[in-house]
Amino acid sequence: MNLILFGPPAAGKGTQAKRLVERRSLTQLSTGDMLRAARSSGSPLGKKVAAIIDSGKLVSDSIVVELIEERVSSCMGCAGFVFDGFPRTLAQAKSLDGLMARYGQNVDVVIRLEVDEEALIARISQRFEAEGRADDNPDAFLTRLNAYKAQTAPLIPYYREQSKLVGIDGMADMDAVSAQISAVLDQHEHRKMVDSAG
Ligand code: AMP
Repeated sequence: MNLILFGPPAAGKGTQAKRLVERRSLTQLSTGDMLRAARSSGSPLGKKVAAIIDSGKLVSDSIVVELIEERVSSCMGCAGFVFDGFPRTLAQAKSLDGLMARYGQNVDVVIRLEVDEEALIARISQRFEAEGRADDNPDAFLTRLNAYKAQTAPLIPYYREQSKLVGIDGMADMDAVSAQISAVLDQHEHRKMVDSAG
């Protein structure tokens, strides 16, 4: 089972991805986490992307696609992947489709966390105060939100046309969101079983 957790920044994708790792033994692939790890390691890649991350803009497609490819290719015994914060552009989505096909797999379902923009801004200013993440500052967050609207939201029709998109209420509390995601995945697995039996 490979799924994408989709939604704007601060929608709760990371929290939900971690729960899926614990509860369903899936492997979380978060390009944001990978880029932050590269930055704190001080590697050449980390130095290259640090200012871009802090500004709230997207790093180049080739960088994130390469990171994802490395992880997917080294994890062939994995039960499945939860893509978190990837893909964020149409080019990334197409690369992911190609990559999955090369490994005889596919993206099974895209779960869209539907959230209210005003609430996100409130949520993020709390996180900024608590954690001090540079790209949570109000200017950078606005840039991230705009990048989402301009570059990432076009993936909604892309996955809808593939009949993979399922929307859930991302404003509910964390446990209720987890329960909704779990129901979607159970339903999907059930359907797969019925299809393969028939
Ligand atoms: P996140 O933690 O997913 O919000 O990512 C933090 C930052 O890392 C983003 O604002 C971008 O600068 C960069 N980033 C993460 N994932 C991607 C991606 N798939 N494509 C481009 N940039 C990304």
